[in-house]
Amino acid sequence: MRLHSIPARYQTPAAALCALLLGAAWLTAWGWRHQATNAVVEQELQRGIAVATSLSNALLPRYRDDLKRVAAARDGDGRLPAALGKDLADLLRGQRVARISIHDARGAAIYTTEDATFTSGPGASAEIQRALRGEGFAQLIQVAAPGTDAERDFVRAFVPANPGVAQPQEAVFEIYTDVTGVMKGVRDEAHSVFANANLVGLTLFAVALMILRRAEEEQRRKDVVTGLPGRENALAAMAEALKGVAEGPPVRVGWLLVGLQRLRQVSAAYGHKSAEEVLRQAAARLQSLPGAELGLFRLGGEAFAMPVIDRSSGLSDAELAERLAFQVQVSFDTPIACEGHTVMADLAIGIALGAGREATAEELMNRAEVSMTEAKRRGSGQWALYVPGLELGVRDRLQAIGDLREAWEQRQFQVYYQPLVDSGTRRWVGCEALVRWIHPDRGIIHPESFVPLLEETGLIVEVGLFVLRESCRQMAEWRETLDSRLAVSVNLSARQFADPDLLKHIRDVLADTRLPAEALIIEVTETFLALDPEYAIEVLTELRKLGVAVAIDDFGVGYSSLSALRRLPVDILKIDRSFVSQAPTDPIDASIAQAIAALARGLSLTLVAEGVETEAQADFTRDIGCQKHQGYLFARPLDAATFEASYPDRMI
Ligand code: C2E
Ligand code: CA
Ligand code: CA
Repeated sequence: MRLHSIPARYQTPAAALCALLLGAAWLTAWGWRHQATNAVVEQELQRGIAVATSLSNALLPRYRDDLKRVAAARDGDGRLPAALGKDLADLLRGQRVARISIHDARGAAIYTTEDATFTSGPGASAEIQRALRGEGFAQLIQVAAPGTDAERDFVRAFVPANPGVAQPQEAVFEIYTDVTGVMKGVRDEAHSVFANANLVGLTLFAVALMILRRAEEEQRRKDVVTGLPGRENALAAMAEALKGVAEGPPVRVGWLLVGLQRLRQVSAAYGHKSAEEVLRQAAARLQSLPGAELGLFRLGGEAFAMPVIDRSSGLSDAELAERLAFQVQVSFDTPIACEGHTVMADLAIGIALGAGREATAEELMNRAEVSMTEAKRRGSGQWALYVPGLELGVRDRLQAIGDLREAWEQRQFQVYYQPLVDSGTRRWVGCEALVRWIHPDRGIIHPESFVPLLEETGLIVEVGLFVLRESCRQMAEWRETLDSRLAVSVNLSARQFADPDLLKHIRDVLADTRLPAEALIIEVTETFLALDPEYAIEVLTELRKLGVAVAIDDFGVGYSSLSALRRLPVDILKIDRSFVSQAPTDPIDASIAQAIAALARGLSLTLVAEGVETEAQADFTRDIGCQKHQGYLFARPLDAATFEASYPDRMI
């Protein structure tokens, strides 16, 4: 098994497990060998004891005096009779004894059989003393056969001459038995125990790894909740389709991505089983769409992907995208029932189309994902078709920053105005100033793709000041030509808010344009109020002293300031359009919107609903207490000339 065939995330655990298995196998084999060796030694000791007993019985009575004499002769002249050797040889015939020494009561060797293996016996005075005390024992030793490298195994047993009796002993037998053959067997056996343990371990390990890989692959292939294949399969299927496309007539291919937003909220409110049910039902709805026969894939998270292959519709990209988006929207216009609740799906639809093999499957997928992000930005239920440059601000940031400076120098920024209407009478009561980048090639670019970059570079302070000045100038004019009750709302970025000259700028602009302060509303978001509430309170208080009204934009998204809100000097709350869009049909959003309305009432704030696109949304938000409406239902952001031309009821 090669390590790189193992998935990377398993490599470290796999190496550790291998080491562990090897260790376990080694321990098992070592334990087995230890035990087997002990058994051999013990067996030879018993045999040695038997030999010693018979030697003692036969020889001691006959040679006891000789032993004593030799032991007494310290000068070494004492010799045992030659007959002893012969008697020993007779007695040992048929025994597996390789060598035998006899030690006297002092421990000195008084007799040793001749043997080619041993030139001299290894020293063993401590062992001999032990045996002289009556304690027989044995050990395994290796002795090199003379003239070769081969080692032979011997059990060397020290046996008292009278094994049954405790000390003092008259003599000790040192008996060597050759166990080379037996020990070879033991070693071979231990080796095979090791090999087997290792094999069993490695097999188990390989099986476990295979199961893990299978599970992982399965996981990648199929999403557990919906049973749909995943992203890799989607790309593979598209790559396959693109191969076929090369040969046939011209064809348009691409992806339709459908993102379910707010799944996390559903999970938080009703539990994750409900969220899973929503996913399953959404998958079922998507599968029933025309075109779904090409496959439906789950990209993980909240998004589904459907390949688009168009050979003959004759539609433009935009028309085809609109038709696809419409089909999806229609299939989701009834609420999804899950676990006793009903939930309105909040879709973001991203589409990318390409001619033939102009782009790879992966490039097309990336573009569709960019479009889905754009659709989310545009608001709930929106769709977006990929056009080159849509990812501006994501890719080519440096280039984009350069472009922005150039755009600023060449005065490509323009202010658009979106009307705000009275929720009861629908009279135009003012407008919000929204900056646009009128790009010579790309057309109108929306602020969310460049305001963050402006912010990053600091250019926002200049551009923001331009928007402020231009919209105040314009509003002063419209108050003369259209209606003197109109007011303009201007968005402030975090950078501008932190600018120490902010108040001075506003004062100057109001003075220069002669716009009364009460005709100006400054919009800030919750997030940067929460960053430094003390500073925020200070600035907002000053603004109100000037007579300028303060609105909190996108209210409800930031969670932060519900309690701080009481202390903040503000006049207006703008409910974020993500709540407005679903409120009439979705109980969660409805209750959030109602809570915000109650809060506004409690604090006597003016409530504005933004992103009002349908009559149902207008009715709902009016009923909960929104005094003003802003949204496509009434008007889109318009350039100044169009605003003027569309102004419904001129008072002047
Ligand atoms: P915002 O302040 O929340 O502005 C409202 C956005 O909602 C605008 O997007 C507007 O076109 C869009 N909108 C209005 N009615 C509807 C509707 O019925 N449905 C949907 N789906 N959308 C609607 P826009 O113009 O793209 O501006 C996006 C954001 O960029 C603004 O969000 C604001 O935060 C920022 N922005 C715009 N102009 C400026 C500016 O001059 N300075 C600063 N600092 N930020 C700006
Ligand atoms: Ca705003
Ligand atoms: Ca807003």
